[in-house]
Amino acid sequence: MQDSCCRVSKSLTTPSILYPLSSILYPLSSILYPLSSILYPPYPITYQTPTPTQPLHDPYVQLPNYTLIDSSAGIIGLTTALTLQEQSPNSSSITIIAAHFPGDESINYTSPWAGAHGRVSPALTAHDRQLAQYMQTTYDVLQAQSAGHPETGVLFMDGYEYLAHPSESYTQLRDGIGSAPGFRVLTASKLPPGIKWGCTYRTWSLNPPVYCAFLLRRFILRGGKTRRVRLQSLAEVVPNIAPQADLVVNCSGVGFGDKDVFPIKGQTCLVSNPCDRTITQQNVDGTWTFIIPRPLEGGTVIGGTKVPHDWSITASMETRRELLSKAAAMYPAILEDSKDGKSSKAKPKGEFHVIRDIVGRRPARIGGFRLSVEELQSGSASSSSSSSSSGSRPVKLIHAYGAGGSGYELSWGVAREVAKLAFGERGLSRPHHQQQLKAAL
Ligand SMILES: Cc1cc2nc3c(=O)[nH]c(=O)nc-3n(C[C@H](O)[C@H](O)[C@H](O)COP(=O)(O)OP(=O)(O)OC[C@H]3O[C@@H](n4cnc5c(N)ncnc54)[C@H](O)[C@@H]3O)c2cc1C
Repeated sequence: MQDSCCRVSKSLTTPSILYPLSSILYPLSSILYPLSSILYPPYPITYQTPTPTQPLHDPYVQLPNYTLIDSSAGIIGLTTALTLQEQSPNSSSITIIAAHFPGDESINYTSPWAGAHGRVSPALTAHDRQLAQYMQTTYDVLQAQSAGHPETGVLFMDGYEYLAHPSESYTQLRDGIGSAPGFRVLTASKLPPGIKWGCTYRTWSLNPPVYCAFLLRRFILRGGKTRRVRLQSLAEVVPNIAPQADLVVNCSGVGFGDKDVFPIKGQTCLVSNPCDRTITQQNVDGTWTFIIPRPLEGGTVIGGTKVPHDWSITASMETRRELLSKAAAMYPAILEDSKDGKSSKAKPKGEFHVIRDIVGRRPARIGGFRLSVEELQSGSASSSSSSSSSGSRPVKLIHAYGAGGSGYELSWGVAREVAKLAFGERGLSRPHHQQQLKAAL
């Protein structure tokens, strides 16, 4: 079914990348959805790009009775709630409704289980470049947050990409292309054994539980409200939970009954060995090996698997051994590094010190990330097209879910896109609100 308010104008095939190096290369992305068909051809991330639409209400006229409900406390919901809050004259008019909040651990709550870092990949299509814009926005916000707020747990460092079997889209990349800061193709002598192509660039890495907790604290301190509720359907929101709501944003990760959503299981291992860089290697057998430091004493994530449609929630010890052994072969220095330069009996050099295994489900979607608008009829049992029930009123519903393995990379860009859909372009263009955005950093 097509969304009623805002039709899909095009769909985007998305690689997993972060920001564009111009039109050729864009950053980062998700470990999950590879770019190019090399990696995950059957599961491209495509975006539904809404056509320009008039805001349902003018927030500058309607407030302060304008109430926004953001149904999620994952990375997409938190960044969206903060962005809407920045642009809303009434910062207490926004409520986050979610079953899980930062601090919770659940297989149905992906954000705490991520690496998370940004990566660079070639942008092969115009759609890739659009996604790259979202990633660029995230990059810029994280850069400002890292500089101004070390307590966010965002740190910039060198990122490395190694490919055992690179496609032309990689081998054609040249130093200094586009906007990826510090992007440089590595010479053969700098590559690990068995690797045919590699590059380095400046990127970010963050500590997901710390970062999400920071975002939630900021939202609450600015007047935002929260309610812990497990929703059976979005139709519950307006009649039962927030009768006054004018806008509902669905950032639930997996959506509500969307049959196109499926999990991509990721198993990683958190170790205490420090590391000063992020490294992602695409192995010749199609597997991935990655090292992602988690700043602020968060350890280092060693990964990782990407198994579509795998619903199991257990970690395999055999997989853990394989991940650690491949990571040690890729970057032996990680076994020698220690913060104080010394080893101890408890933590001798030359081995990994495991804190825990991690299993998470990347919320993927056939057809890609859903970013679209429709109308939710308050008082009705289902969304859209049932406007006849007496006493019902239209409530704008914005969907923003299905980020797969790119949720952190896309987050701030998606959040601003949601804000445009909510308030219209003017919301972002007014100087007053630009100031608010700056202040939010
Ligand atoms: C191992 C691993 C490594 C990863 N590494 C990276 C990385 O390096 N970079 C990157 O960008 N991404 C990475 N990801 C992907 C990233 O974690 C996800 O894309 C992101 O967390 C998705 O966020 P979300 O907010 O959409 O969903 P979630 O984090 O799952 O949040 C969903 C929210 O909606 C709420 N909710 C859902 N259903 C209901 C309901 N019925 N009622 C009430 N509330 C509901 C939940 O309670 C929760 O608050 C990784 C993922 C994994 C598993």
